[in-house]
Amino acid sequence: MSPQDIPFLSVGALRTALRARECSPVDVIDALAARLEKVDPKVRAYLSHDLTGARQAAAAADVNLPLGGIPIGMKDVLNVKGQPCGCASHILDGYIAPYDATAVARLRAAGAIPFGRLNMDEFAMGSSTENSSKGITHNPWDFDRVPGGSSGGSAASVGADLAFAALGSDTGGSIRQPAALCGCVGLKPTYGRISRYGLVAFASSLDQIGPFTKTVEDSAILLGLMAGKDPMDSTSVDDPVPDYVAALAGAKDLRGVKLGLPKEYFIEGITPAVTKAVRAAVAHCERLGAEIIEVSLPHTEYAVGVYYIVATAEASANLARFDGVRYGHRATDPTGLLDHYMRTRAEGFGPEVKRRIILGTHVLSSGYHDAYYLRAQKVRTLIRRDFFQAFEKVDAIVCPTSPCAAFKLGERTADPLQMYLADIFTIAANLAGIPGISVPGGFDETLSPGKPLPIGLQFLAPAFAESNLLRIAHVYEQTTEWHQKRPAL
Ligand code: GLN
Repeated sequence: MSPQDIPFLSVGALRTALRARECSPVDVIDALAARLEKVDPKVRAYLSHDLTGARQAAAAADVNLPLGGIPIGMKDVLNVKGQPCGCASHILDGYIAPYDATAVARLRAAGAIPFGRLNMDEFAMGSSTENSSKGITHNPWDFDRVPGGSSGGSAASVGADLAFAALGSDTGGSIRQPAALCGCVGLKPTYGRISRYGLVAFASSLDQIGPFTKTVEDSAILLGLMAGKDPMDSTSVDDPVPDYVAALAGAKDLRGVKLGLPKEYFIEGITPAVTKAVRAAVAHCERLGAEIIEVSLPHTEYAVGVYYIVATAEASANLARFDGVRYGHRATDPTGLLDHYMRTRAEGFGPEVKRRIILGTHVLSSGYHDAYYLRAQKVRTLIRRDFFQAFEKVDAIVCPTSPCAAFKLGERTADPLQMYLADIFTIAANLAGIPGISVPGGFDETLSPGKPLPIGLQFLAPAFAESNLLRIAHVYEQTTEWHQKRPAL
């Protein structure tokens, strides 16, 4: 195999090539290094990487393991032993992870090589990766546009063939939305399906780890290897882990599948290109034999509001640990303990993180707790119930991932509310704990002359119905050509 072709392979295809000895694990790292040198200065998906370490791991790799010798990119929010884990924040400057996150350890045990630190919005707060304190990442399809967020580096790395696959985290859409904007597959599993141990917590009742991949099959491969009970995360569930790859076998059409189309999801603010792509995708699914049924998710309109109460409340508690005493940045020459805390946190956190800590502290404070936090939890229950009711009638829901294709860098940074609305179609799944996947579903040819911008199609399924979710997404992918298009880099 020619080295130039290697970076474009899917995980499944790379595994086959490695086992057939068409290339060696060291060739893979060399090919990736060459691609990184050429393309990453334009995209800036990676904050750092260790090619020497990766070559050493590759030299010792066993290609008979499920992911033997395959490098997997890591969002800067996941602990990988011996590597920096900074959450793209100055407050974690200098911190080196002393252990592997469970998801990382499981991939490592399967032979994978955790590779590089991928850019993100600071502490996963944002939808464009512009809240990173380590610089911006560019969309591989148009460098003037955002890659989405918060896992923008992960999405851009896979979209630009700078990674075969990458991990990210999704609290309100941070895997699915950037995957949509960069033209790759992004899966948020059911809450509890993958252990969160070693994932730096943002909002613990919403956070899930998931893969960014070039194909749905790769998503199934990675999910199967990471899923399952972990004694280190009490919210991980010990339901047996199905063979997700086997669930895709033989799937050719959608006969017998009931797909719900939420009537509340074609809102004002959604671009004509996205509406057109989703309508076309729905018609395509219908031709494949799916029965399309209109469903109602009446409480969706409250999802963004509820999310910004629940998520900020949890974040304000989770981020209290960054105090400069135990790790990361520490203010110099404090006059006392309070001055130490105040200056360390004032210097270490960026503006969006501070805004969320203040908001979260407010909604939890006595006198406001009942009006905001408690009420938000009640509405969260209503949002969950909407999905339970819809899933009595349908197997899965189909809808847009994002209301628009990639927006311009800087276009929304001045208005946090505009930025928050980027997640209008993804947030409800986190509040309900259900799985969702974004797959390439078309292009917007109108926003950027000569530069088609990917559009994501989202499927949502009941909790722990990933096999079915992946199967539906796989059939859609395999009967369309969107995923085969690559950006001109
Ligand atoms: N964009 C949303 C936020 O800013 C979601 C982020 C995420 O899923 N981590 O909070």
